[in-house]
Amino acid sequence: MNIIVIGGGASGMMAAIVAAKNGAEVTLMERNDRVGKKLLATGNGRCNYTNENINLSFFHGEDIEFIKTALDGFNRDRTIEFFESIGITPAMEDGGKIYPNSFQASSVLDCLRYEMHRLGVAIRANSFVGEIRKNKDGFIVILKSGERFICDKLILSTGGMAMPVSGSDGNGYNLVKPLGHKINKTTPALVQLKLKWDKLKQINGVKVVGEITLIHKEKEIKSDYGDLLFTDYGISGPPVLQISREAVRLFENGDSPIVRITIISNRSKDEVYGYLLKRFNTLSYKSVEDALVGFINKKMILPILKELDINKEILAGNLEKRDVKRLAELFVKWDFQVIGHKGWGQAQTTAGGILTKDIDPLTLESKLIKGLYITGEILDVDGDCGGYNLQWAWSSGYLAGYNASC
Ligand SMILES: Cc1cc2nc3c(=O)[nH]c(=O)nc-3n(C[C@H](O)[C@H](O)[C@H](O)COP(=O)(O)OP(=O)(O)OC[C@H]3O[C@@H](n4cnc5c(N)ncnc54)[C@H](O)[C@@H]3O)c2cc1C
Repeated sequence: MNIIVIGGGASGMMAAIVAAKNGAEVTLMERNDRVGKKLLATGNGRCNYTNENINLSFFHGEDIEFIKTALDGFNRDRTIEFFESIGITPAMEDGGKIYPNSFQASSVLDCLRYEMHRLGVAIRANSFVGEIRKNKDGFIVILKSGERFICDKLILSTGGMAMPVSGSDGNGYNLVKPLGHKINKTTPALVQLKLKWDKLKQINGVKVVGEITLIHKEKEIKSDYGDLLFTDYGISGPPVLQISREAVRLFENGDSPIVRITIISNRSKDEVYGYLLKRFNTLSYKSVEDALVGFINKKMILPILKELDINKEILAGNLEKRDVKRLAELFVKWDFQVIGHKGWGQAQTTAGGILTKDIDPLTLESKLIKGLYITGEILDVDGDCGGYNLQWAWSSGYLAGYNASC
């Protein structure tokens, strides 16, 4: 059996390894001069390759039941076992995130490359596939350079649209569209959000530990808690990435979602109000500006007072209760309109992709083109932040590699 895998990313390398282990003759085509460019950037260069808690609720797509066989088959335990077998010792961090004990994404790539080499996978770098054709015996794979290759089975692992500099720029969709596959609308996910507020520049770089909630038409859609970072364009940080999929989708549909940020957490508005009254009473001799120093980040004080139209020089003891209430309200419920996102260049994954109803969930073989298998981010499947996207890459790569080589 002669198999070509197109795309040397996470799912393509896994598919190549499994197919080669199963006895197939495997060639991996990668457009870049080396495989695994994106893998090196994962987890801030540390590669969060799976998570202690894996279930369907961490994944998204039009039909999420589609991933069940792949995810149950090559599950978290088998993933950890596989990586241990090639040299990667797991280490767990907050939120069940699992990294290599070296905390180096490069070590994961080194071990995958070593394993491909050991199993005799032929890696063809600088091989940008421009067209695939089906014939009665199998496939013809045509590079942009004009070179042609034939194979019995084909595995398409060209990734989605996130981080186009890594080689995943959505060109893979164009390889399967002529074969009849349809693509669900793609939008960036796990991406920073642009917010509307004329004073954002003044709080650029301020970090708070708090909650962010996405609100649409007064309904709470999703929220998350953790480190939030204000920037000159809006907001970033892990909780922002977690709510970004839905925020981007609403924004791209022409809606104006709101994000509500809690900069003082775990206290009700009334509790914060009561605390501020006490604080301003104790520090009544200070201006309200000085009286807030030590309670919230200093950089935020003036922009917030300005926003609420409160005179910064007024003595804390003389501040009207109505204004103390408004301050308390903003600290627990600060609303911003979402006016965009940082786009594909910053996104970590792709929401949308090849329609999964045209793929057999038990094998990942195309229902339209026999012998064609599809893996990873190019499919209409995406995961939350926390190792879920790589888990999908490994699980889908395993299932496709195994079935293509049977
Ligand atoms: C900055 C960043 C950090 C991330 N961190 C994490 C993390 O810590 N944990 C996690 O779970 N997920 C993370 N992700 C997401 C994860 O990396 C991806 O979901 C995963 O790599 C997708 O694997 P894939 O095999 O589908 O595609 P990719 O890894 O994107 O690989 C596709 C490959 O195909 C090649 N290719 C494309 N078109 C062609 C063609 N026509 N011919 C030949 N080759 C082609 C590309 O060059 C690329 O090498 C992160 C993503 C980014 C951008």
